[in-house]
Amino acid sequence: MNLVLLGPPGAGKGTQAKLLEDSRSLVKLSTGDMLRAAVAAGTELGRKAGDIMERGQLVPDALVINLIAERLDEDGSGRGVVLDGFPRTLAQAEALDRLFKERGKRLDRVIVMAVDDEALVERIAGRFACAKCGEGYHDAHKRPLRPQVCDRCGGTEFVRRPDDNEAVVRSRLKAYHTQTKPLIDYYTRQGRVKTVDGMADIGTVAKEIGRALDG
Ligand code: ADP
Ligand code: ADP
Ligand code: ZN
Repeated sequence: MNLVLLGPPGAGKGTQAKLLEDSRSLVKLSTGDMLRAAVAAGTELGRKAGDIMERGQLVPDALVINLIAERLDEDGSGRGVVLDGFPRTLAQAEALDRLFKERGKRLDRVIVMAVDDEALVERIAGRFACAKCGEGYHDAHKRPLRPQVCDRCGGTEFVRRPDDNEAVVRSRLKAYHTQTKPLIDYYTRQGRVKTVDGMADIGTVAKEIGRALDG
């Protein structure tokens, strides 16, 4: 099964993609994670993308389409992928249709995660992650079970993203509303969309996504 999780920054895409990876043996493909890795490694891609990400704008389509094309060709994506943060523009969505078609695959479902803008700002302000394994946490909604110790890997170092501040969040939300939201119509016309209430708690959202995939 191949899925797209579509929603604004902070909607819970990464959190739910990780849960789907564990529960359904899907491979999580996050363009945000791939771009941050490129920035950290100082590659040519990282140098091109870093400033744009810091401003909360979208990096050029060709760069992210390339990243996804490479990953779809890697071993392990055969059981299915869950795409987190891609596609974000109409050109990316059209490219994705083409990439799947060329590989004899298809996009089965697009899960739209609906969350109010005020809740997004609060979620992003409280977001942090394990430096070692990337597990995501939140100051109020998902603290590690033992203080300062990652539930998943036992790591004790945590990081916050430089673009998770209020000014940059506003520009990311604007990019979502103008460039990404139109994809809901695109996929609705293809009959692939299921919308879930992303305002519920993490476990409830996971159950609702499960029902959307099985129903
Ligand atoms: P979030 O889901 O919290 O908005 P991501 O980690 O998905 O954040 O993305 C972080 C940044 O990486 C974006 O603001 C954008 O600059 C860049 N980015 C990630 N995915 C894409 C994409 N598909 N197209 C263009 N830019 C992207
Ligand atoms: P996205 O990938 O869409 O940007 P994340 O999955 O990183 O979003 O979630 C943003 C923040 O909100 C994280 O700190 C995460 O722990 C928290 N979070 C995710 N889902 C929920 C939820 N349903 N309720 C409350 N907080 C959530
Ligand atoms: Zn960890």
